[in-house]
Amino acid sequence: DFVPKKKEGECVKVVVRVRPLSRKEIQDGHDEATKADEDSGRITCQNPKADADEPPKTFTFDAVFAPTITQRKLYDVCSAPVVASVLEGFNGTIFAYGQTGAGKTFTMEGVQDPPELRGIIPNAFQQIFDRVALAAEGVQFLVRASYLEIYNEEVRDLLAKDPKNRLDLKENVDSGVYVKDLTSFIVKSSHEIDQVMQAGKKNRSVGATAMNAGSSRSHAIFTIIVECCDSTGTVRTGEHITVGKLNLVDLAGSERQSKTQATGDRLKEATKINLSLSALGNVISALVDGKSQHIPYRDSKLTRLLQDSLGGNTKTVMCANCGPAGYNYDETVSTLRYANRAKNI
Ligand code: ADP
Ligand code: MG
Repeated sequence: DFVPKKKEGECVKVVVRVRPLSRKEIQDGHDEATKADEDSGRITCQNPKADADEPPKTFTFDAVFAPTITQRKLYDVCSAPVVASVLEGFNGTIFAYGQTGAGKTFTMEGVQDPPELRGIIPNAFQQIFDRVALAAEGVQFLVRASYLEIYNEEVRDLLAKDPKNRLDLKENVDSGVYVKDLTSFIVKSSHEIDQVMQAGKKNRSVGATAMNAGSSRSHAIFTIIVECCDSTGTVRTGEHITVGKLNLVDLAGSERQSKTQATGDRLKEATKINLSLSALGNVISALVDGKSQHIPYRDSKLTRLLQDSLGGNTKTVMCANCGPAGYNYDETVSTLRYANRAKNI
């Protein structure tokens, strides 16, 4: 848990994406109360309940994306550098954060058809297999994928035949923290990934809340492991093997529980969701701060599991997603505050 000398905060990048108004929001007469100015990296939020002369709240980030941003452009800016370093044997993590309906799953998975709407996960496979295709003779890649969710602080395998099975987190000296018995598939081309993604998606826990019937109350982690074996070295240097791990994380909705009228099981869930989101916020802000002697990875399953992919030589991107309409104002400001804490100052 001790921080090496290198300034880790430099490897954490925080970006904000504001989605377009939905057709329904336009029909209902909503305006864009939250706006992203891509040139200045600034987000402004107008409180619909405030007096007209009250200035909007503003926040500045490494990059901000207006509703017109394409999936491709977002990928090129946020994800391509992370995937490139995974191909070189480093670990990396990309998070989608935000309230339910803000566009997290659209950012991570996107829409399969048309291809321009595909999200970070399929584009990452594309980038990986484009690189594999260029490999010199004697250089071999092995690409594996797994998909799990953390629901109520329990780990479930989304690719297992029976996803209700709870899996245990284990730890050993060689491989660090890992999930025992987690299913992983060897992926040979980027086409194969859609099946894996769809299979996992079907198994995700969804619970109806007052806010959104299909809302996701779990954190989904899609992991791609890229092993590269380079046997083109001399007899003396021998084979060179690198292993890089990429975690693509669709976090649970960040909305506060009061708004979702949670009781009973739902309330228990909400408390645990908030626990891991705040643990994640604490870990990232400790990394960014760079002065902390102790990074509190052990405070949640999410941060424990991602321990080897946050900090150190890894690259981390937090994409905070926001809805633009005025009725999202409170949640949007809370999302931006969370993202602001994770930012390198
Ligand atoms: P979340 O996963 O955060 O709950 P979703 O990704 O499911 O939110 O997005 C909610 C809805 O808005 C979906 O119908 C999705 O397709 C749409 N949507 C989200 N972001 C965008 C975007 N950038 N462009 C177009 N549609 C979007
Ligand atoms: Mg979602």
